[in-house]
Amino acid sequence: EGRLDEYLDNIIVSGNYLLGVLNDVLEMARIENNKITIDEELVDVEEFKHGCLVSIEELVKNKDIDFSIEDNGTNKYLYFDKVHVQEIFMNLASNAIKYTPEGGSVKVVTNESYDDKNDIVYIESSFIDTGIGMSEEFIEHAFDSFERERTTASANLTGTGLGLAIVKRLIDLMNGTISIESTKGEGTIITVKLPLRKGEASDYVDKDEYVEDTSYDLRGISVLLAEDNDINAEIVMEFFEYGDMSIER
Ligand code: ATP
Ligand code: MG
Repeated sequence: EGRLDEYLDNIIVSGNYLLGVLNDVLEMARIENNKITIDEELVDVEEFKHGCLVSIEELVKNKDIDFSIEDNGTNKYLYFDKVHVQEIFMNLASNAIKYTPEGGSVKVVTNESYDDKNDIVYIESSFIDTGIGMSEEFIEHAFDSFERERTTASANLTGTGLGLAIVKRLIDLMNGTISIESTKGEGTIITVKLPLRKGEASDYVDKDEYVEDTSYDLRGISVLLAEDNDINAEIVMEFFEYGDMSIER
């Protein structure tokens, strides 16, 4: 019984790992083929930061790392590509956490500055860790695909070496900058600067507030399922039967 749980846990962990690798390889392929567009939308900054924080807390949950945030941002609404900015932040945060041994610290500091005309906000976030650091020679290759620094400290840390390559290309597409300062054995500071357009609260439509109630009572109905993948069919049938529907395939 206990062993079965352990095996299932292992399968889930390996499954998630493979999914992560696959997603990174696909994301890089999309970027290299110019298939990624940056979709700016008006973002509620507080809500966005909260979403990132929840995901980061998931990463530090099982590791003894002192994680903190210093947020000096004041803009409540900004235009940016939520999905891709979150991807950048999560990659940098997960590296900082991964390459910092237990007992160390990770801090994210965010500041804003303005251009002369005052209509662009530069958001500058630094991911500061007290981890294993990188050598000067490696830093020059850190944004290349599949590059990972091999050291005794990183020997048992897995990864594909695509995270920073994706981050760098996304930041280029957003006309931003990224820089690395690092000292081996002491820690790393990675700073991202993105030029964003300011938004107004009055432009903002909270999509969550306008969601129609789309729940229907489907119990007792008969469903004809067309699905050529056996495993998917089995999963769908299980769900439908769980919802008291009769199903035929
Ligand atoms: P993944 O594709 O899963 O992100 P990865 O973390 O190895 O794998 P990158 O995120 O691209 O790949 O990072 C490349 C390499 O840069 C890492 O393998 C590591 O050697 C080094 N590195 C990145 N971030 C840090 C950091 N905060 N501290 C020390 N080394 C780092
Ligand atoms: Mg990484």
